Amino acid sequence: MADKILTEHFGLENLFKIGVYMKNKGYEAVKKVLSEKKPDEILAEVKAANLRGRGGAGFPAGVKWGFVPKDIEKSKYLCVNADEGEPGTFKDRYIMTHNPHLLIEGIIITSFCVGIHTAFIYIRGEYEAVALRLEQAISEAYDKGFLGKDILGTRFKLDVYVHRGAGAYICGEETALLESLEGKRGNPRLKPPFPASIGLFGCPTVINNVETISNIPSIVLNGATWFCQMGLPKDGGTRIFGVSGLVKKPGIYELPVGTNLKEIIVQHAGGMKDGKKMKAVIPGGMSAPILTEEEIDINMDFDSLVEAKSMLGSAAIIVIDEETSMLDVLMRVTKFYSHESCGQCTPCRIGNSWINKIVKRISDGNGKRGDLDKIIQLANNMLGKTLCPLGDAAAMPVMSIIQKFREELESYIPLGN
Ligand code: SF4
Repeated sequence: MADKILTEHFGLENLFKIGVYMKNKGYEAVKKVLSEKKPDEILAEVKAANLRGRGGAGFPAGVKWGFVPKDIEKSKYLCVNADEGEPGTFKDRYIMTHNPHLLIEGIIITSFCVGIHTAFIYIRGEYEAVALRLEQAISEAYDKGFLGKDILGTRFKLDVYVHRGAGAYICGEETALLESLEGKRGNPRLKPPFPASIGLFGCPTVINNVETISNIPSIVLNGATWFCQMGLPKDGGTRIFGVSGLVKKPGIYELPVGTNLKEIIVQHAGGMKDGKKMKAVIPGGMSAPILTEEEIDINMDFDSLVEAKSMLGSAAIIVIDEETSMLDVLMRVTKFYSHESCGQCTPCRIGNSWINKIVKRISDGNGKRGDLDKIIQLANNMLGKTLCPLGDAAAMPVMSIIQKFREELESYIPLGN
């Protein structure tokens, strides 16, 4: 088993305090960067590490940073996406709660590399205790001279702010996050232009997930080769797999990218609770297409999940047992997306609420023959036809649940209807 990167020091008493963090190699990477490295060298290292975004899309972080124009008079911004609204996902909360300085250190290095002097951590409003912890850690970092003006005696300056969201799932979508940060309703923007060129307040902006940024200090300290060797050649490092649902030991497990899904559930999370049989697994947060028990002998990396017609997403694994009704799962999924659609585009706004109404009708015992086909038709009309990925995120799990559990779902529709 590979070493851990993000959870290595979890369990140390008061790790969230800067003194304990610094006794355990904390801020060594920032010192190394500011005394020895040029921004281009860091960028080359992060690109070589093949660090892919941990938020869901999996875009390589170094490539994203490289899109930001260098010689530009406008300000540049870093926005850390700590919205973590995908159902089943709770990994970033652990990083920010137990090791907030790791994230701050990653923010400093990223900002130095890209030439950024203002960074925001956009955190979901429900994480108030975590936001307070981050603010405390940021304050400690200012006191020690890691933030503010003339950091560690250099001319580099950086300010970091925590910004609380107001509870909308869509604000985890990067352009909706920017709108919200600007004080507007969190509606996704049309892309292009992409945030790297026109982002926050019309300025070039890097947006990365908490886990992505938290990997940066280790890459700087140990090198790209070390990082790649821990994962896969095209997808380096580890992932924090969050396992929830009906397993014996739900929780987070930091393991190499590409670890087998069955191994994570059976060996690490202890297998099924109360001796029940597994029925299905959602492998990457609620928007990932569902897998049956027969399909879980696969590696947890972006390419393998795409091959399995699902997705790695935020690596949040939800395990469903034999006693769980798939109609209840469908109800939960469709109710969520129907509620969270921002309403800008018709297929998503109408499609989601229509699908949810049909599912509710089936759940109330009034389903009709043809209802499941109607849902598939509505979901098809959302796929690839909306302004932001929420349309796809809503359609894909619904379609996969119907395709794989049709017989069970049909059993809820009265015979004569
Ligand atoms: Fe809004 Fe849905 Fe359109 Fe995204 S797909 S912009 S959430 S209506």
